[in-house]
Formats: sequence, structure tokens, C-alpha cells
Amino acid sequence: MLWAEANAALLRLCDGEGMARARELAHQLAEALEALDPAMERLCAATCPRCLEPCCLRARVWLDFPDLLFMHLSGQALPLAQLRAGRGEACRYLGAKGCHLPRASRPWVCTWYLCPEQKARMREWGEEEKKEVEQGLERVRELRTGLVEAASKDGGSGGTRTPMPCGTGS
Ligand code: SF4
Ligand code: SF4
Repeated sequence: MLWAEANAALLRLCDGEGMARARELAHQLAEALEALDPAMERLCAATCPRCLEPCCLRARVWLDFPDLLFMHLSGQALPLAQLRAGRGEACRYLGAKGCHLPRASRPWVCTWYLCPEQKARMREWGEEEKKEVEQGLERVRELRTGLVEAASKDGGSGGTRTPMPCGTGS
């Protein structure tokens, strides 16, 4: 199965020599996501429970290479399968009270995406609060870029790219 194969390949990559820098960045990334979590949960609590068209039902998102690389290197709980079982399917991790996955086990897009209502809510926040969130999002973006670069440079995989499961398959 593609999901299992991709994660087995990632496991080998992350066990490889020279991944110390990537591992360090992954742990920094975990901290940066944790720091963002309260603001994101606050926005979600104010908007998602009464949402008539939850984005998780229609979003065509999946866990990508940087998401899984981060999870493997920082020891996050790995989801049991890719988000959607097939084309046209909703995310399998959406429950009655929202997402079942801890933030660090979700695709990054699920954290950075703010729907129009959430953006409107955020505009009502104080400047400091908004700045903190914007800086937090930027920090995660930079760390993800650095993480992939460090893994590509130091992973010693001989230039082979780990096959990634995309929108389908489990
Ligand atoms: S993020 Fe916005 S669109 Fe998505 S479920 Fe929450 S309120 Fe609805
Ligand atoms: S992983 Fe969670 S936040 Fe992302 S689409 Fe699925 S239910 Fe929504």
C-alpha cells in the first residue's frame, strides 16, 4: 500500500546518518505549531461549530512530504491513513466536534488556512495578537522549508525522493 510504503521509506530516511539538523528543525517546528495552537483553536471555537459548509468536507488536501517528514523526525503520532479514502470523499478525521487529529499530526494547510469568517474575526483582534499569529505562521513556513532542505542535503538518500501518497489510498 502506498501509505505504508511511503512511511517505511520515510522511516529509513529519518534513521539515516546526518539527519541531526533536520531533526532539530523538526523539534523547533513542533514548538512553533504548539505556540500557534491556542490562537487557532480560539478562531475555530468561534466559527467552526456553527459552520454550515465545513471546509473539511470539501477540501482536497492531504499529508504531503514535509508534513510526514516533520512527523517522523519529531516523533508525532502518525495518522493511520491518508486523509481521504478516495476521490470525492471527505476527510476521514473530521468528527462531530471537529478534527480528531492533534494539530501536529494534521497537514500544515489545515493550520494556515483561515476561511473568510475566521479572517474577519481575526481583524477584530488587537494588533499584538494578530502580529503574534502572523509571525507564528511565518516561522512555521520557514522551518518547514529549512527542514526539507536539511533532509535533502544531509539525508544521504542518494538523491532518491520518497514516494508520497497523495489524495487517495490508505
Ligand atoms: S474553518 Fe471556516 S469554513 Fe472551515 S469549518 Fe471552520 S468556519 Fe467552516
Ligand atoms: S485533517 Fe482535520 S483539519 Fe484537516 S481536513 Fe481533516 S478534519 Fe479537517
